[in-house]
Amino acid sequence: MPDDVLLLPWHDHATSLGGATDGLEVHSWAEGEEAPSTDVLERVTFYVPQYLGGRSALEAMTRMPSLRTVQSLWAGVDAVWPFLPDGVALHNAAGVHDASTAELAVGLALARLRGLDEFARNQTTGSWLPRRNDAIADKRVLILGFGRIGQAIEQRLAGFECEVVRVARSARTLDDGRHVQAMSELPDLLPTVDVVILIVPATEETVGLVDSGFLALMRPGALLVNVARGPVVVTDDLVAALHDGRVRAALDVTDPEPLPADHPLWSAPGVLISPHIGGNSSAFEPRARRLVAAQIRRLRAGEPLDNLVARP
Ligand code: NAP
Repeated sequence: MPDDVLLLPWHDHATSLGGATDGLEVHSWAEGEEAPSTDVLERVTFYVPQYLGGRSALEAMTRMPSLRTVQSLWAGVDAVWPFLPDGVALHNAAGVHDASTAELAVGLALARLRGLDEFARNQTTGSWLPRRNDAIADKRVLILGFGRIGQAIEQRLAGFECEVVRVARSARTLDDGRHVQAMSELPDLLPTVDVVILIVPATEETVGLVDSGFLALMRPGALLVNVARGPVVVTDDLVAALHDGRVRAALDVTDPEPLPADHPLWSAPGVLISPHIGGNSSAFEPRARRLVAAQIRRLRAGEPLDNLVARP
């Protein structure tokens, strides 16, 4: 630890990390700023790239020959791997985004079911157009991916009088008796649910998972919510299913991102789109800082850091 050089995305680390960096050599590279000098980059051993810092914050890792540890502020680190030098340990931000992403998943589902997006559009023309829309009460909601965020989504749905179906890679029974079903059961489950919430990582197995076959198995008019990663859904197949009126959708993530202004997904019927802001809310900063402070304390104590991710 004594030779560690930290590069953090915060200038106020001395106060906002609860003293975790006291006495250490720390450099800061905050949003919108020029990259640190070559001299600094060459000595950095512990790096926290700026959240949403784009390609330049990731590419910088390739100019850090002393780098040993990267603490990502993303839960899904698919975008980090291509830039991570061999032999450098990567830790994800598991836990940092749970609350924010879970509440967005529920918010998107409610907004689309209750037609809040249409009412917002009517508001721009002063049009009072009441209609009876779907409630989430009495619906069956399938959470596809029952990791940290999937579980946080179920917690938030608890008061909504809906039935939750949980699906992960493998089946299991939780300590309290709740059952998680296996992916292999998905074809039988999809025709029985009204809402599907995607919250799996983007991996070789999940990219392209939601294709025309998957969408055809969903109940007519069922709602697809994607807060996972855009490429989990085959965009062209979803656009076709939306035009057929087969499904509705609420998407925080799309493929491609950003979605070009003339992309057909924007104007497809029955879709609500937010610009990948699941984790990007006021809930982010305090949780991100708590995680980084705890990781620096582990580093100083010579303990293994949490959230180590294996290269796929
Ligand atoms: P996590 O705790 O690792 O949980 C992932 C879940 O997905 C696990 O239940 C896992 O199954 C399941 N899974 C993985 N591969 C699967 C497959 N091939 N088929 C079915 N299920 C599969 O991850 P998390 O923290 O909940 O985050 C999940 C993902 O959400 C992230 O990787 C990220 O891409 C995305 N995310 C998006 C936003 C946003 O802004 N919209 C924010 C944060 C995260 P097992 O339990 O059986 O292993």
